[in-house]
Amino acid sequence: MKPVSQNEEPSSMSQALADHVSKLILSKFSDLTDGFTSPYARRKVLSGIVMTTSDNLDDASIVCITTGTKCINGEYISDQGLALNDCHAEIIGRRCLRLFLYQQLTALHHPATREMSIFEAPLPGEKCCLKPNVQFHLYISTSPCGDARIFSPHEASSDVENGQDRHPNRKARGQLRTKIESGEGTIPIRTGSTGVQTWDGVLQGERLLTMSCSDKIARWNVIGLQGALLSHFIEPVYMTSIILGSLYHGSHLSRAVYGRFGDEPEIEPPYHLNRPLLSGISNPESRQPGKAPNFSCNWMMGDQGLEVIQTTTGKREDNRPSRLCKYEMFRRYMEHVKRLADVEKPIDLPSVYCDAKMTSTDYQAAKQAVTKAFEKVGLGTWTKKPIEQDMFMASVDAP
Ligand SMILES: [Zn+2]
Repeated sequence: MKPVSQNEEPSSMSQALADHVSKLILSKFSDLTDGFTSPYARRKVLSGIVMTTSDNLDDASIVCITTGTKCINGEYISDQGLALNDCHAEIIGRRCLRLFLYQQLTALHHPATREMSIFEAPLPGEKCCLKPNVQFHLYISTSPCGDARIFSPHEASSDVENGQDRHPNRKARGQLRTKIESGEGTIPIRTGSTGVQTWDGVLQGERLLTMSCSDKIARWNVIGLQGALLSHFIEPVYMTSIILGSLYHGSHLSRAVYGRFGDEPEIEPPYHLNRPLLSGISNPESRQPGKAPNFSCNWMMGDQGLEVIQTTTGKREDNRPSRLCKYEMFRRYMEHVKRLADVEKPIDLPSVYCDAKMTSTDYQAAKQAVTKAFEKVGLGTWTKKPIEQDMFMASVDAP
């Protein structure tokens, strides 16, 4: 399935894909919540990632399903990598995908499962690539918070007619925005912000700022979905499509997720500006009534049930860390480094999480290029979490 370019109308093929993806996710979420009757069926946003391996829609499989619209309360941020900061559904979905990619790397390294992996065995010294035709489609039940949603609160909009943008606030278009702590909605980045947050400031009650989903997705369209750690082993993995279950406005969504950089960010291949296919669905879902819950659910291929995270603490309801937390990802990373060291040459194992991330130099350069590109067109400075939260160590043996 080829993505359509930004000016083309979605083809009937892509509409069929979009409808199929949304149907798969809603029907699986119904199974997981006893026909939407379980307390965990409550949600504002439902998201998921579907993988296709050919043009045949029957081959599509669900990688993950997630819900959530809230972020951690600053007093619970973890300096051990044990809490999830951002429990917006699509952000949790990306973490699930990363776990899935680790599982697929593991499969590649065992003779019995090698053929089933979505990765091709790499040539010596090269990184792993996805097999041809493996594609990932991101579904979100509504437009991502921040730039994509702020200007399109309704299903039908006449703000953009004949390519002319008539909205009175059009100057604010494209601005980087941050989620507000423990709440919903986003605010524009303060002018003159340096993008730096401090650990002691946040613990003392300074508001913890997290970039909006629109901004994060725009960055994924440059750096990929795999993150710094996996970039040591695999080539960047980009989304092929973004499918919205409601509030789909092509002009706002395309600006938000790839169209507001001005000049393309200055990046080296294989990194590039990815322009996924964008699509709504034939029967948009209606607004979810009621208050947004303080939990976020995730399910991954092969799971029996949902993992439930309390969004205030960023941990599971039994207070244990999620399998998706930084610590767990770091542990997976170290496991894989060890595995490679056994087969190939001994590798230095970085013991601190941020060091392992920083040595992924091409990835870090692409990330910096995104920050620069946003600054260059005056859309604000990307706000980072305090550096202290990435200075933990992990051991391969104990979770
Ligand atoms: Zn969001």
